[in-house]
Amino acid sequence: MIDLRSDTVTRPTDAMRAAMAAAPVGDDVFGDDPTVRQLEEHTAALLGLDAAVFVPSGTQSNLCALLSHCERGDEYLVGQTAHTYKYEGGGAAVLGSIQPQPVEMNADGSIDLDLLASYVKADDPHFARTRLLALENTKDGQVLDDAYVKRAQEWARATGLSLHLDGARLWNAAVASGVAPADIAAGFDTVSVCLSKGLGAPVGSVLAGSEEHIADARRWRKMLGGGMRQAGVLAAAGLHALEHHIDRLADDHRHAERLAEGLATIDSLTVAAQNTNMVFLELHSDAAAPDLFAGRLRESGITIIAGSAMRWVCHLDVTAIDVEAVIDAVAAAITP
Ligand SMILES: *Cc1c(COP(=O)(O)O)cnc(C)c1O
Repeated sequence: MIDLRSDTVTRPTDAMRAAMAAAPVGDDVFGDDPTVRQLEEHTAALLGLDAAVFVPSGTQSNLCALLSHCERGDEYLVGQTAHTYKYEGGGAAVLGSIQPQPVEMNADGSIDLDLLASYVKADDPHFARTRLLALENTKDGQVLDDAYVKRAQEWARATGLSLHLDGARLWNAAVASGVAPADIAAGFDTVSVCLSKGLGAPVGSVLAGSEEHIADARRWRKMLGGGMRQAGVLAAAGLHALEHHIDRLADDHRHAERLAEGLATIDSLTVAAQNTNMVFLELHSDAAAPDLFAGRLRESGITIIAGSAMRWVCHLDVTAIDVEAVIDAVAAAITP
């Protein structure tokens, strides 16, 4: 099966499973797991930040971060379609009594600073206290413009806001732009990164930041039910991924580029964008209906999420040969 639904569908490689099996472990709630500690230290070093905490998922990573920045009755500024706002079940509001203030995003994943400024609340009991700006990189596979990030950080500091980066795919941003992960993370108080997307680990995210934020996040992780015991078996997968699977993200980006190029030659569909490991496409009205199209691809061994507008994602388990097979299968499946 060629599964293009997400870069979360990867299975651990044999080498990763061997590293997991061999990992020294201990009870991490007591701080005894050497492999978890190694992962936390390694990730903090890669991101140029002081400390880090291993968490089960990107969603919990972002939530621990938000809880470490904001108290009950505070609010954070966040993109209208940002993951932390739209795709995490409203966790900050439900579990943290933190009010999100979603703000319209530009197509490139940035948010206008004037627009952000218009949502900052005055110090007045009518209003929630505006505390934090959360950005996302990559956003829909797009690398945030470096100069924009710097401007946004300067604005946030001048406004008295702290800064969180949802860097679930920060590694893709680093590989695509040639900018070091630490330079992408620079200027943020907290940065969350995923190990279970294109990097191929079965589980896990790391939240990195200042000692103070991470100590706080560690408490929140416990309260959220994310304190894990002999988690070194999982951390070993993450360490293996960081050591062996970052540079190869360039392959995923190349595969997505080739996929976009091949699809663009097929009638009845439009390739709307190709960003890092993602291809966005739209079926025209003269194409097969979305469910029929997806059903035909499934018969050819290709899994997608059916729709007239789709996101297809390249990852560790999609090869260059698979990409050619997808292009051929689409050409055959597209006619009504
Ligand atoms: C996937 C994702 C997350 C959440 O990660 P999970 O491990 O699925 O909880 C957070 N932010 C972004 C941008 C993501 O793509």
